[in-house]
Parts: sequence; C-alpha cells; structure tokens
Amino acid sequence: MSYIQDVKSTVAARNAGQPEFLQAVNEVLDTIRPVIESDPAYERNAILERITEPDRQIIFRVPWTDDSGKMRVNRGFRVQFNNAIGPYKGGLRLHPSVNLSIIKFLGFEQIFKNSLTGLPIGGGKGGSDFDPKGKSDREIRAFCQSFMTELARHIGADTDVPAGDIGVGGREIGFMYGQYKRIKNLYEGVLTGKGIAYGGSLARTEATGYGLVYIVENMLNAHGKSFKGKTAVISGSGNVAIYACQKAQALGAKVVALSDSNGWIYDKNGIDLDVVRQIKEVERGRIKEYADRVKSAEYHDSGKVWQVKCDIALPCATQNEISGDDAALLIKNGVFAVGEGANMPSTPEAIEAFQKAGVLFMPAKAANAGGVSVSALEMSQNSLRLGWTFEEVDERLKGIMKGIFDKTSEAAQKYATPTDYVSGANIAGFVKVAEAMIAQGV
Ligand code: NDP
Repeated sequence: MSYIQDVKSTVAARNAGQPEFLQAVNEVLDTIRPVIESDPAYERNAILERITEPDRQIIFRVPWTDDSGKMRVNRGFRVQFNNAIGPYKGGLRLHPSVNLSIIKFLGFEQIFKNSLTGLPIGGGKGGSDFDPKGKSDREIRAFCQSFMTELARHIGADTDVPAGDIGVGGREIGFMYGQYKRIKNLYEGVLTGKGIAYGGSLARTEATGYGLVYIVENMLNAHGKSFKGKTAVISGSGNVAIYACQKAQALGAKVVALSDSNGWIYDKNGIDLDVVRQIKEVERGRIKEYADRVKSAEYHDSGKVWQVKCDIALPCATQNEISGDDAALLIKNGVFAVGEGANMPSTPEAIEAFQKAGVLFMPAKAANAGGVSVSALEMSQNSLRLGWTFEEVDERLKGIMKGIFDKTSEAAQKYATPTDYVSGANIAGFVKVAEAMIAQGV
C-alpha cells in the first residue's frame, strides 16, 4: 500500500463517524501526492500522520440561563490543530449542526489556508451547537460569557487567537472579549473581529467577501475575463455573502440571487444590498422579507439558488451546499467561474464536475483566506498598538489575495494542470507547514 493510502486508512479507522473531516483529509491527501512522492523526508518524518492528528481537541460543557430562568447546556469545542508556523488561528462557529467532525474539518482546512496567506498563523477552529437564532441579546451574552469562561484557559494572544464564523459576528466577539478580559485581567489581542473602539481592524468585517471577489477577479483576469457585465449568484446572506455581493457589484457584476437557510431570493434588476443589510445586519430578519420590500424580487422556499442562470457562482453559506446535481445544473446554464466563499461548499462530485467542464474553480482555502488574513493584520496592529486606515488594510488585503492566487497558480502549473487550483492551493499551503514541522523536529 502507498504511504498516502496507508495514512488515509488509518485516519478513516481512527475517525469513524466524522464524514466532513474525512472528506477534507481525503481531498488534501489525494491532491498533494506528487509532492509527497517527490521527497521521502515526508514519510520519514511522519508528516501526514502528524498533520491529520490535531495537537489537542478540547470539548467542554457550556451552561447558561435562558430568559425564562431555565438552565440550558450546550457543548463547546476548540480544536488546536497545528501551530508549526504560528499561534493557532481560526473562527468560532455557533450553529446547531456543530459537532467534532465539522470543527475538525474546519480546523484541518485552516492549517493550509493560513499557510497560503504568507502570514505567521497556525490552524485551529472552535464553536458550539448553540443556536443563536431567535435568542435575545441577554441570552446571547449569557451563552458567550459561559463559553469564554472555559475557553479562556486554553487561548492567548501568542497561543491561540479565535475569530468569528457562522453565527459569530461583532456582538458575540464583544461579549467574549469582555469576559476574557475580566477573567485574565489582560488587555491583549486574543480575539479578532473586535469592534473598532477596542482594538478591531478596519476592513475586517468586509475582508472575507472582498478577498473572495479579489481572488476571483485575479483568476478571471488570468483568462482574459472579469466581473464587469457578468451575472453572479451568491448563496447565503451573512457576513461573507453581503460583502462579496458589495464588491462584485462595485466591479460591475449584476448579483441576482442570495439565500438563507429558509429559502432564496431572485431579483432580476440586481440585488439592492442596502435592503439586505437592513434586514440581516440591523433587524436580524429573514431573506424572505426582501421580496416583501422590493417589487422586482421573487422569494422561493424550495429548490436552491443554483438553479438561477449565471456566469459566476459564489457559494457563501455552508459546507456541501453544491451537490453534483447542482453543479451539473450550473454548468448546463453556462456558469464559467466558481469561487468558494464558504468552507468546503462543493461536494467532491461537484468539484469533479466543474473541473471536467473546464469551469474556473477557486477552492475555499485560497478563495476565502481574506478574512483570516485581515485577522492576522488585526493581530499585527494590536501588537504594534496602532490602527491602520481602511484603505491601508484593503490594499494589503488585495496584495495578499494576489499573492495567494500566484502561489496557487504556480503550484498548479508545476505539479498538476495550470487551472487545477484545488491541487495548487493544497500543495502550496502544505509545503510550507511541512517544512516547518520537519525543521522543528517531533
Ligand atoms: P453568517 O452566520 O454571517 O452567515 C451564514 C449564512 O449562511 C446565513 O445566510 C445562513 O442562513 C446561511 N447558512 C448557514 N448555515 C446554513 C445551512 N446549514 N444551510 C443553509 N444556509 C446556511 O456566516 P459567515 O458569512 O461568516 O460564514 C459563511 C461561510 O463562510 C461559512 O462556511 C464560514 O465558515 C465561511 N467563512 C467565513 C469567514 C468569516 O470571516 N466570517 C472566513 C472564512 C470562511 P441563516 O441565517 O438562515 O442561518
């Protein structure tokens, strides 16, 4: 049996019942084969065995009291995956679907994504199966304080620096930061995505969505195309989707669809983002309300946004949201570029279909690295005790996304095919971490 096959079998046996984690591991191991086979040092140093096993996995009870006075209990997670090139770094997800498999897949992906940014950050991820939907501000605060009461002992500005993800935005980060400060008596950059008044970075909120559009524009330009005049469909209507929509529109695209977990909207005139932001960022409402307010829009509570004809698709909601059938429909309708804003939104069947059809496909590790990049810039500003302007951070973000595109593209050309950005991103991300692991010994 080959080294890679051997490790895949061991990981599968050891992590039975963790389908998302195994999906992420298999994709990486399958695509980095040319590099692994080119140098026996990887096997001698057990790099694959080590990189697929987290440094530690912390699971804890999160008790909190709801508005009726009843005690509730959720499960909290922090997986510190790999710190070969910097402190663990990765978001916190609050969603009822959260389990160890999901946190491990996200933490594993984060190792390679963070490496691709060129910044000194390792990989980690965390969260809870708490459902923030429909909770009052007081309930959110009670949960966040309890969650941080345990998490605080495991993190630190030079150890592990969490950030937001699904269900965790500025409000949640604020409550968690306040609790960390109270417990540790330390004013340090232990979380990113903080409010501007207390150490946050300008452009962090926009960074993942903007970064996605910047790297897709780089990919399009490399093939003589651009966003200008194109029709785009975006899934989700959260942080990533909103700012991807804003930047795609700024570059001249017409975005015609957005969604949430209940349904999706189609607006033939192009999405009015001010209305979406009012519903989602201010009122914390449902995307359905858009169709009540904008006459040109339709709301659908069945099917998916992927049935809408488009040139460019940007999945920005959640994992495995584009199935093989969805990909086939997008291809039939003429899609020519896909950029993954969410983590692992395309199933393996969908990726294969896109690549076979010659669709330009930028995978999440590269495409959504803008968020963690600006998080790392937030860490730098905190260490310097300085704050940069929006324009300065945005310029750095553009440069970082261009750097990621170049590294991904070079690795694809060297080890796979020129447009196999999946292999390119995995290889470019892997090599740097593996080199650091070998240099540092066991
Ligand atoms: P938000 O919570 O702000 O928004 C998530 C959006 O996706 C919402 O519209 C939500 O709908 C929808 N959604 C979530 N889960 C599901 C589901 N199971 N089925 C259908 N729709 C769903 O999260 P973000 O925008 O921050 O994150 C979106 C994706 O981007 C995630 O995969 C995340 O890991 C990834 N990402 C985020 C980064 C960031 O900086 N925020 C950085 C890098 C990646 P509803 O409101 O109905 O739940």
